[in-house]
Amino acid sequence: MNRSKRREIFERLRTANPHPRTELEYGNPFQLLVAVVLSAQATDVGVNKATRSLFRKVKTPAALLELGEQGLKQYIKTIGLFNTKASNLIKACALLEQRHGGVVPEDREALEALPGVGRKTANVILNTAFGQPTIAVDTHIFRVANRTGIATGKNVTEVETRLLRLVPEEFRKDAHHWLILLGRYTCLARKPRCTTCLIQDLCEYSHKSVDQEPPRKQYATAAIDERP
Ligand code: SF4
Repeated sequence: MNRSKRREIFERLRTANPHPRTELEYGNPFQLLVAVVLSAQATDVGVNKATRSLFRKVKTPAALLELGEQGLKQYIKTIGLFNTKASNLIKACALLEQRHGGVVPEDREALEALPGVGRKTANVILNTAFGQPTIAVDTHIFRVANRTGIATGKNVTEVETRLLRLVPEEFRKDAHHWLILLGRYTCLARKPRCTTCLIQDLCEYSHKSVDQEPPRKQYATAAIDERP
């Protein structure tokens, strides 16, 4: 994909959604960390359901330690892998207290040292809680980046490296959320909704369906039509 096409894609995504946000509910960086750890192989909707009552009670690592592993499990038992996640979160809270005074560090290495926190989770925290221009590549972003041709790669690390290199700087901070939302609601794994896709004419996916009404007419908003 050439540079001008890539830029046009992100301009359209920004016009349609100027301030994209995570769909996980949280009140502070610590709660975001808990929510992101819980969201592995689970839906944001399922995580939000569980954390709504948990976060009323727990706002700090100390509060989660006080609740304890068994207590935590009662709140998150509807979420897949909840036993492992509860164990990791309690250990992570102990480390946050010991090493960081109960504060979530704005540092990749320190984040990745926490149990249950890998590169993807650290990227989400750095981006969403601290505004750093990181791009966490999950299953949606991996698929969208490869299909569209925005940044191709055989694994998530390759795609992340290319996205960081190829996405113009002004779009980098929000690229994660735009691509994830595109993957979650339009560029679905089994049946991509190409006919209603905002970037259908720019996407380089060879199997996209283009047999219905052109997407720009269906998707058009006043803001998009105002583009020069
Ligand atoms: S046109 Fe189709 S394949 Fe391309 S990004 Fe949109 S939904 Fe995905």
